[in-house]
Amino acid sequence: APLLVLDRVERRYRQGESTVEVLAGASATLHAGEVVALIAPSGAGKSTLLHVAGLLERPDAGEVWLDGEPTVGLSDDARTSLRRNQVGFVYQFHHLLPEFTALENVVLPQLIRGLSRKEASQRAGELLSYLGLGARLAHRPAELSGGEQQRVAIARAVANAPRLLLADEPTGNLDPVTSAYVFQTLTTLARASGLAAIVATHNLDLAATLDRRITLRDGVLVDA
Ligand code: ADP
Ligand code: ADP
Repeated sequence: APLLVLDRVERRYRQGESTVEVLAGASATLHAGEVVALIAPSGAGKSTLLHVAGLLERPDAGEVWLDGEPTVGLSDDARTSLRRNQVGFVYQFHHLLPEFTALENVVLPQLIRGLSRKEASQRAGELLSYLGLGARLAHRPAELSGGEQQRVAIARAVANAPRLLLADEPTGNLDPVTSAYVFQTLTTLARASGLAAIVATHNLDLAATLDRRITLRDGVLVDA
């Protein structure tokens, strides 16, 4: 079964007197291990789509299937728990905690999920080393380069072994070489752990390195 199915998802917002139809029957299917680029102009609804796919927002109509399970009708608590267990998010800005080291930033979500500090530290160390940051474990975010900060943010997003990774312009802030490395990191991780990823980006060259490209046009998803 596919990992994620968006089935005719609709999402509209009231803005004053008018209603904006941001998603107007958006459909997509994503399989484990697949990394898909989401390319669309600013304001087209990329963040809304990622929020709906990641169970942060409920659609007004349509269904979101995650790992074979329909999610729209679930309670808020059930959706939150599913999101915590199955979904990781990466944003344009890393949002790492500045007073904590790289290792601690990756340990924290695991402690919140109930792992022991020993298990969490071991997994965080392995993950960061796998992402080429073995020599940066004790560095604070301010002591890391932009690309290193984003790789720590990716490690944190996958620390609890989610099935789905949603990245909203993860390299919007980085130079081309560093961006290419971050994209490569996402693909390597997806291949190794079987997670599926949607990566929203404006960079067509980088999008071309991913498995597939989709775009949001008038509220629906089409192959790009
Ligand atoms: P993108 O990420 O592609 O820039 P967004 O999904 O953030 O686009 O927003 C798409 C459209 O929906 C924009 O016109 C935005 O102003 C509007 N929008 C997004 N969230 C809300 C909200 N909570 N309330 C009202 N309008 C919203
Ligand atoms: P991100 O890009 O981090 O996903 P956004 O900048 O799209 O976040 O939106 C931040 C918050 O503001 C979200 O809760 C979103 O729903 C809300 N929002 C976005 N656009 C609008 C808008 N035009 N009117 C009201 N709320 C909005």
